[in-house]
Amino acid sequence: MDEIWDALAKRGAEEYGGEKVTQLQHGLQCATLAEQEGAPDALIAAALLHDIGHMIDIPSGETAESVAVKGIDTMHEDVAAAFLKPWFCDEVTEPIRHHVDAKRYLCFAEPGYFDGLSEASKRSLELQGGAFDESQARIWIAQPFAEDGVRLRRWDDLAKDPEAETPSLSHFQHIVERVAAGAETPSAA
Ligand code: FE
Repeated sequence: MDEIWDALAKRGAEEYGGEKVTQLQHGLQCATLAEQEGAPDALIAAALLHDIGHMIDIPSGETAESVAVKGIDTMHEDVAAAFLKPWFCDEVTEPIRHHVDAKRYLCFAEPGYFDGLSEASKRSLELQGGAFDESQARIWIAQPFAEDGVRLRRWDDLAKDPEAETPSLSHFQHIVERVAAGAETPSAA
């Protein structure tokens, strides 16, 4: 798992695409919100690591935002899920894989959701395919772990506060390593 912590150590200080927090702060805030809501450990781990695709895929010197401006969708959710798969169960990787489509889902399902998104999130939505229509939304939300993807998405949207205080990375590293070791009983899909 050193690859995971190396990626966070090397790239965590970078700006989180167009927001006022770093990648590491964003992950820590996301995991903190999950923990405060009493989410299972696997979903806390997912919250911490959901954007690791931005840290292993984008060339150094670029950010998600600078790449998005060029009109490229890096598919960071698929990159992250594939990268994490050797260590983690679906309870971790599937909500991560769903967290972008969860935005497309909420843009359809929840009036006012789109208006509450940050400018960077609104911009990336276009590259990611835009809001779902009714039939896309119905099919998408019926998939395993889609609801967990929606929960993760809501923490993701809130985890952009430059003033927020969080526990340290080591606090969450213990949780992540416990989940990877299979100590967590997987929750039902
Ligand atoms: Fe995120």
